Amino acid sequence: MKSSKAFTLIELLIVVLILGVLAVIAIPRIPECAAKAKVNTCKANVHLLNSQIELYKVENGSWPTVLTDVTGNNDYFPDGMPKCPFSVPYRYNSDTHRVEPHNHGGKQGSIGTKSIYGLDSSESTGMLVR
Ligand SMILES: [Zn+2]
Repeated sequence: MKSSKAFTLIELLIVVLILGVLAVIAIPRIPECAAKAKVNTCKANVHLLNSQIELYKVENGSWPTVLTDVTGNNDYFPDGMPKCPFSVPYRYNSDTHRVEPHNHGGKQGSIGTKSIYGLDSSESTGMLVR
C-alpha cells in the first residue's frame, strides 16, 4: 500500500475555506475593537484624574480650584496629564470636585455610545458611581 504525506487538493481547499470564514468574522470587528479600546482608555483616564484629585484633597486639605492644580503637579502626574484619545478636553467640575465623563459624539454625559462604539451608556458610566 502506497502512503502519501502530501495534502490533497480537497484538504487544502477546506483549510483555505476555514481561514476565509475566520477572516470574514474577524476583520470587520477590528475597527470596532479599536474604538472600544479608545473609549476604555478615556474611562481609565477619568478614573485616574478623579483618584489623583482625591489624593490632592487628602494631602493638601482642600480640593483643587482648577484641574491644573493637580495635572500640572509632577507629584500627581509625573508623565504629564493623560489625554483623551479623541482629543476631547477633560473638564473639572469644582462643585462636585470630579472630572465628569464627556461626550464622544453620543448622548450627553456618556463616554461611549452603542450607536458609535457598541457600548451601552450605562456600562460606560458605571465606573463613576460611588
Ligand atoms: Zn474622552
